[in-house]
Amino acid sequence: MKTLLPTSTAGSLPKPAWLAQPETLWSPWKLAGDELIDGKHDALRIALQEQQLAGIDIVSDGEQTRQHFVTTFIEHLSGVDFEHRQTVKIRDRYDASVPTVVGPVTRQKPVFVEDAKLLRSQTDKPIKWALPGPMTMVDTLYDAHYQSREKLAWEFAKTLNQEAKELEAAGVDIIQFDEPAFNVFFDEVNDWGIAALERAIEGLQCETAVHICYGYGIKANTDWKKTLGSEWRQYEEAFPKLQKSNIDIISLECHNSHVPIDLLALIRGKKVMVGAIDVATNTIETPEEVAATLRKALEFVDADKLYPCTNCGMAPLSREVARGKLAALSAGAELVRQELLAKKSA
Ligand SMILES: [Zn+2]
Repeated sequence: MKTLLPTSTAGSLPKPAWLAQPETLWSPWKLAGDELIDGKHDALRIALQEQQLAGIDIVSDGEQTRQHFVTTFIEHLSGVDFEHRQTVKIRDRYDASVPTVVGPVTRQKPVFVEDAKLLRSQTDKPIKWALPGPMTMVDTLYDAHYQSREKLAWEFAKTLNQEAKELEAAGVDIIQFDEPAFNVFFDEVNDWGIAALERAIEGLQCETAVHICYGYGIKANTDWKKTLGSEWRQYEEAFPKLQKSNIDIISLECHNSHVPIDLLALIRGKKVMVGAIDVATNTIETPEEVAATLRKALEFVDADKLYPCTNCGMAPLSREVARGKLAALSAGAELVRQELLAKKSA
């Protein structure tokens, strides 16, 4: 990456109202058939355009072609029954109706590869593509077949690896795995979670990232956050092992979160996507607020490894708020970039 402090988002952006109900998470599609396919592609083009207009350096599809960051991938696998749903507690936090694993999980065909090719054809900027992480996939299902979270994660990791290799061949520069479950199941993270993630990136030449967050600004998450106390030290559990892993980039929350910034010292040497935009509020950060978060992070992350980012996806926000936040991220990063360049030439 040639640009200093290259900006990006954690992944999702709001969808247009003609494609899905706005300001609603996991909103159902408003189109069907060929119209839906065209509509998703048009929304992808718009999401890209908005990022480019805001000056975002590493762009994504804004997750315009998926309804849900985990289940859309799982829908394309065999071995999962979406008709027979079970209610389970996910992330140890809230009940959700989820599909059931009924047989060996395999990937019969590419999931996002055509969408990634479309994005690649529309821009010369570096592109990032998000996939769910194996542990978070396991935690979003009822398993009636393997009866082992570890075994199921391992099988998912194989399917993710197949997808990731094809995304890389399609020209994706950074493949990101979303693992909010890493902030909850600490023993499993260290026993097999990181190993499964490394299985998912096996043989990849492109850069790889893991996104670990406190979730969208939905009620179940904000209620959970209230129970976490004044210091959120969850990252402390996974970071030491992640620091030694083959993952290139760690994406995490910073702005408005209670994560002690010195925990970044635990991943020294890794590239860090620092969340400088709060996705759980409609208040748009000022460039100076973004810059303040980045300056704090610079105490623990080398400048050439710092990637300004959002705390999480922006899908549930209004398009206007999301646009404002993209612009603030870009302007805040530019403030710090100029400071760093001035220091260098002084
Ligand atoms: Zn997130």
